Amino acid sequence: MADIFSKRKRSEIMASISGKETKPEISVRKFLFKEGFKFRKNVKTLAGTPDIVLPKYQTIVFVHGCFWHGHNCNKAKLPTSNAKFWKTKIQNNIERDKKVKAELKKSGWTVLTIWECKLKSNKLFENSMNKLREELNAK
Ligand SMILES: [Zn+2]
Repeated sequence: MADIFSKRKRSEIMASISGKETKPEISVRKFLFKEGFKFRKNVKTLAGTPDIVLPKYQTIVFVHGCFWHGHNCNKAKLPTSNAKFWKTKIQNNIERDKKVKAELKKSGWTVLTIWECKLKSNKLFENSMNKLREELNAK
């Protein structure tokens, strides 16, 4: 059967289905891999399906997009149209994140959140990764 989608279109569709995989997340994983930290990704058996789980370090890393997770920074400005809708939506995400974090902590995990805006430039990325390395090595 002929493929009704062009190759490019198809990969766009696949990307939107697998959804969760974002660029900053991939950069963090690459860093961890390079540094020899063993991790599992998108662990569905844990609350919130964490992006990055490091069992040996009892540590979970979330890479959060500033807009969707309501970071207190200028990358997270709400649209002016439909403001109420967005406010509720983002507020719900914040509440859910809080709940997930509390649940994971209760089961003995250390939960680290890395915000997208802290990975924007090479310099920021490097700083964030140095901090992450320190936190893991201190475990
Ligand atoms: Zn931010």
